[in-house]
Amino acid sequence: MPLIDLHTHSRYSDGMTKPSEVVVESAKRAVLLYALTDHDTTEGVEEARARAAKCAMKFLPGVEVSTCEHEHLHFLGLGIDLQNSAFQKFLKDNSEARIIRIKRIIQKLAAAGVDITEEDVFGRVRGIVSRAHVADALRQKGLAQNRQEGFRKFLVKGAPGYEAPIGASACEAIEKIKSAGGKAVIAHSGIVKDIWDFDKWVKCGLDGIEVFYPSHNEEMIQTLLDISARYNLFVTAGSDNHGPGSGRTAKPGMEIPAAHYEWLLKIFNL
Ligand code: MN
Ligand code: MN
Repeated sequence: MPLIDLHTHSRYSDGMTKPSEVVVESAKRAVLLYALTDHDTTEGVEEARARAAKCAMKFLPGVEVSTCEHEHLHFLGLGIDLQNSAFQKFLKDNSEARIIRIKRIIQKLAAAGVDITEEDVFGRVRGIVSRAHVADALRQKGLAQNRQEGFRKFLVKGAPGYEAPIGASACEAIEKIKSAGGKAVIAHSGIVKDIWDFDKWVKCGLDGIEVFYPSHNEEMIQTLLDISARYNLFVTAGSDNHGPGSGRTAKPGMEIPAAHYEWLLKIFNL
């Protein structure tokens, strides 16, 4: 089956490596079609695009947009026009909301007696700040063994540094992606099964579902394939690769059935 990766991160958000490195790692694994989808920024896309061209890998400019509706309700924008100023303004607003949230988290942690400052967190950010940077700062201080433990002990619901997500609604995210010429794809939807609302999302313009994802089991994949058929949504595959040392998958590429791969090439004129 063809290997593609339409969901990856670089250090412009919470990935560990440069865009060009993520691209090269993907090319080494013979990924045919690739997108860089950093959180709420397209800063790394041109670097990734240039390297993908050298590797003769098909490429889509991308982004992963967060929402305020759920910690993990995220939409991938694929094939977006990077020059669309309204969309760039939207991403900037979302990233400013992130800064506010992270500052609140740090205040809550400090109030709970955790030894952490804004400098500890923001000092390590190269682009878009995220809770992963808080977790990394906690790890560096010896308060957590790794990112995952940092989240579990300090950042998830019920933990001392929990702070609800802020930013765009799901429909707003979808509409903004589309108005920038992109296709809106719901990311890792298996993780947000409890709040599925495909009727609403499709009405707002949802185009596709990330069906093939590391944490989706066979049953979830089948359920999502059924949903995609019912609503005529295209199917994507993404590793959510954050690079080595992130504690997340560092293995680029996910298999996708050939018919779905062909459908993607058609939709994106590749
Ligand atoms: Mn996500
Ligand atoms: Mn992601």
